Amino acid sequence: MNGALSALRINSERFRTNFEMLAAIGATPEGGVHRPALSDAHLDARRWFLEQAEQIGLDASVDGAGNHSAVLHCGRADGPTLLLGSHLDSVPYGGRFDGALGVVAALEVLHIVKEQGISLNTHLEAIDFTDEEGHFANFVGSLGLAGKLKPEHLQHSRGGRDRFQQALRHAGLSESSLFSARRGPATLAGYLELHIEQGGRLIESGMQIGIVTGIVGIRSFKIRFLGRADHAGTTPMGKRLDAAQGASAFTLATRELVMKEFPGCVATVGNLEFEPGVFNVVPHTVTVALEFRADDDDKLDEMEAALQQRVSVAAQRFGLESEIEFLDSTAPAHMDKQIKEAFANASKALGLRHTFLPSGAGHDAQCMAEICPAGMIFVPSVGGFSHSPKEFTEWEDCVNGANVLLHAALMLTQ
Ligand SMILES: [Zn+2]
Repeated sequence: MNGALSALRINSERFRTNFEMLAAIGATPEGGVHRPALSDAHLDARRWFLEQAEQIGLDASVDGAGNHSAVLHCGRADGPTLLLGSHLDSVPYGGRFDGALGVVAALEVLHIVKEQGISLNTHLEAIDFTDEEGHFANFVGSLGLAGKLKPEHLQHSRGGRDRFQQALRHAGLSESSLFSARRGPATLAGYLELHIEQGGRLIESGMQIGIVTGIVGIRSFKIRFLGRADHAGTTPMGKRLDAAQGASAFTLATRELVMKEFPGCVATVGNLEFEPGVFNVVPHTVTVALEFRADDDDKLDEMEAALQQRVSVAAQRFGLESEIEFLDSTAPAHMDKQIKEAFANASKALGLRHTFLPSGAGHDAQCMAEICPAGMIFVPSVGGFSHSPKEFTEWEDCVNGANVLLHAALMLTQ
């Protein structure tokens, strides 16, 4: 890039004012925000987005999935668009940085490019995706845009389909309109997202920018350990077929297995359901909710086989039967090589310490990666807190992230 462009920085004061204006919408007394998707506070935040777009002089629009866009037209009218964005919804009583940072940074990048009259060969679009947090269904907006939304996503929406339909109507949307958001891959030059890390790796390693290599795949299973209900007072310990013992042995084994054989991966037993679930009966059934994550498909397959083997071992040890029911799977997403390089070069040019790391949490970038080159950067989360009002990122790090986003966008559109 030429000297003038490489000296360019976002306007950090304006960026901060806007970030704080947004954080006041749905603010909670604890210092976080409560903006579940399609709630009044969320819709207010989206109105704020449209007002910002108008003030900057961008071309604002809302698609059938409720995604809010602000476009800066550059290059050929029918040329492709580079998207920059994240989400304005939050988990209930969440933090002010998750999602919001990426959207405000995207608007600021477009603002500075427009203000400076920089000519690019690609349109720039700031985008706010609908329901990233899965209040109703995961990634409704980005799946809709990517053309990957399935009727099943809506049928099994959290809190029931009626509630979702009602919320959609309230926002001027409908189930069928969600499918109209699809955009052709040829119209997209790529997708860039700035996000907080939501973990402690960057701070622990003294890094300022984390370039995401990929977003982990997730598989979930329900596992049942089946034994026999018996009197808790009259059945000797050695004569029991106690489902609780198998489920507990398995739970402990998952930790040992992953730490020893799958470093960097995670497995979680998030729930144990005991039947009949009372003090004075040996449980005949325990249902285990198991979820595990890894950044590539082979590793997920290996973990699945190893975990299943641990189920049999734990069941046999206590004379139990076992059943394994597959629930859900999300494939790992790989971030684009050229975009990762642009992020690394931008970090270097800005004198920022950067590293490469996988994302253990899901993001809209994984849906976008299915149809166009996608990339993400993380900035440090103090204490690693997220999905909590304690979520915090030093303002200097937010500015660093926005500058890397700006420079990467310039490199990719020159
Ligand atoms: Zn997020």
